[in-house]
Amino acid sequence: MKCICIGRNYVDHVHELNNQVPDEPVVFLKPDTAVLQNNAPFYHPEFSSDIHHEIELIFRVCKEGKYIDEAFAMDYVDKIGIGIDFTARDLQQQLKEKGLPWEKSKAFNQSAVLSNWLPIAQFPDLNQIGFELNVNGILRQKGHSSLMMFRLPQIIAHVSRYFTLKVGDVIFTGTPKGVAAVSIGDQLEGFLEGQKLLDFPIK
Ligand code: MG
Repeated sequence: MKCICIGRNYVDHVHELNNQVPDEPVVFLKPDTAVLQNNAPFYHPEFSSDIHHEIELIFRVCKEGKYIDEAFAMDYVDKIGIGIDFTARDLQQQLKEKGLPWEKSKAFNQSAVLSNWLPIAQFPDLNQIGFELNVNGILRQKGHSSLMMFRLPQIIAHVSRYFTLKVGDVIFTGTPKGVAAVSIGDQLEGFLEGQKLLDFPIK
């Protein structure tokens, strides 16, 4: 499986990092070796001193497809969850300045944290989903799907022009503002519509 990730999808987060608002989705991938599940601990890597949390709504692909039309896009996902797109911000900044790909700062081991999945059918309106990240019991990020610039059907239509979606792939839909560094000893908790789905330590 692979993780297909959208960057810069919430205006307030685009501004906090002084990036430009994109006119089409910003896309990058994470490989299966990046996945961290079951609330296992995240081990802070030695190559960065500025690992940022990015809480995001995530969706699981349930059907293979490419060149998917927006009108049928929702047939290709069946589960929703929350994830953390861990980002080595210091390394990413160096790579961006050199005009190089972000992979090392975005796709490293354990950088794609996945919660347990809930059926999409449990949620009548995917444009009205709230999600939050607490660090050590304090609210750090609060997002709402109504604020996404590119909605899920648009994202699926766009990314499937370039990458065949396969069953089990995961789509990360971008983070709201409030990204910040994590430290060894922190405890991260993620909530989807008030339901705690993530609870794991930084070691
Ligand atoms: Mg992200």
